[in-house]
Amino acid sequence: MLPLKEKDKPIVQKLLSSGCCARCVLRFCCVSVQAAYRKPPQDTLEELQAFISDTENSKSHDAAVSEPPNKRVKLEPIGTEEDDNAAAVAVVKPKDEESSVCVACLGILQELCGSTQAVKIAERVKAEKYEFDTVVLSVSLPAQLCVREHSCWLHVKKEMREKSMAVDKDDVVQVKEAFKWIMQGLVAKELGGVAVVTRSLFEVSVEFTHPETDADCHFLALTCADCFKPAKNKQSVFTRMAVVKALEKISDAVFLKHYACPPTEPTGSCSPQDVQCLHVSIFIAGRYNKFCRSLPQTPWVIDGERRMESSVEELIAAHVLPSFRADGFNFSSSGREDVDVRTLGNGRPFAMELLNPHRSRLSKVEMKQLQETINESSDKIRVRDLQIVSREAMSRMKEGEEDKTKSYTALVWTQKPIRSDDIAFIDDIKDLTLDQKTPLRVLHRRALAVRQRVVHRMNTRFLDSHHFYLGLKTQAGTYIKEFVHGDFGRTKPNLSVLLKTDTDILELDVESVDVDWPPSIPE
Ligand code: ZN
Repeated sequence: MLPLKEKDKPIVQKLLSSGCCARCVLRFCCVSVQAAYRKPPQDTLEELQAFISDTENSKSHDAAVSEPPNKRVKLEPIGTEEDDNAAAVAVVKPKDEESSVCVACLGILQELCGSTQAVKIAERVKAEKYEFDTVVLSVSLPAQLCVREHSCWLHVKKEMREKSMAVDKDDVVQVKEAFKWIMQGLVAKELGGVAVVTRSLFEVSVEFTHPETDADCHFLALTCADCFKPAKNKQSVFTRMAVVKALEKISDAVFLKHYACPPTEPTGSCSPQDVQCLHVSIFIAGRYNKFCRSLPQTPWVIDGERRMESSVEELIAAHVLPSFRADGFNFSSSGREDVDVRTLGNGRPFAMELLNPHRSRLSKVEMKQLQETINESSDKIRVRDLQIVSREAMSRMKEGEEDKTKSYTALVWTQKPIRSDDIAFIDDIKDLTLDQKTPLRVLHRRALAVRQRVVHRMNTRFLDSHHFYLGLKTQAGTYIKEFVHGDFGRTKPNLSVLLKTDTDILELDVESVDVDWPPSIPE
């Protein structure tokens, strides 16, 4: 039995006469019993017909049902149901009426909603070989469906007003909702019992278009021009959002002046677009060493031309992407070194967002194997502490970055000959504050400013009369090269001022980046 009441009869009558499908009739009668939508639509239609014919027999004098009964009642095209079922229905209804498309849902709750479609969706998901525990099904509908829905609503509203029934448009079950009620269980079954839920890391999207009725929305641009502003990345101004907004503003009278009520009958159903699968990003983190003085951290491109053949992120991604079968990545790190600077010690913390991973879980053993594969593939870099992290944890790497310290070793050249004693005083300097004007070499990409940075400690190791190693522990963000050579006096004080001779930097290594994230993993 359908969960309908006596008062619904004129509405059922009216909607069936207008060319609404059986499931759309249930929607406009605000039936929220999900099982009612999962029944074969032919059965529902027959029940509805029996329901209203009962009205005619008992209340044939009722003015509200004076329209010719069943004149436009059409059957759903049969695609998803059993053959014997179809045969049974064909006896009841003339064959030419079986293919009519619902004026409200444009076929979405008819032949586009059933086990045939569930099989198609599941096949697509299986073909992409995703690993997932649950899946969320999302549906994208053509915007004009809102216009047609509104027209049908106005059509039944008149009826309800005459019967002084108070029904809210919000109580009408949405096409999207009914579609999910029907499809979720069918898709779940085809995917071998995986749970189809309302929130999941894995999303399968189904999109429908109906070019034939795209123009249905166009009159709204005349009545509510400011709802339809061209936006970037949008092919059409008639987005679902804009159409909904315009329909909220338009008066019933103006709507009825411009648009048919009930809507006109379409010749064809919606076209289902390719099923799209998307897994939310996952994040991995670790620390990297860079042992090469000709390797940039990220691809180095000047005027569209590539300068170095590889980069740290590419050497890592080359092995990470296939392991997670991800479509792409975003790389970030705690600061970065110049192309000619090595990063030694425990390495520099980095994180990678992996886009649309088809595989989202690797065991600790597998992560360790992945790390070994990366490390065996190149002697230019080395990775440690490789692990899967949460998006939230990743922000730990960036937070308070300016307060962190970094340690460096620089190979320094002096113009004047030096003895070991001449540089010893540097070891005693503590917490030296520098004023650093934006270095000339980065002025093209950073605003001109004077930044204060602190050199906490330094130590020296005499090499020969023109060379020594300078160890530094500094606040993150200190420009080390500029501190050593002075940058034409733009960094004050600088090493050449302290030593009273011209100085230059020949080599620089990062010895440690003191960020306690990600957690270290024992070897
Ligand atoms: Zn329908």
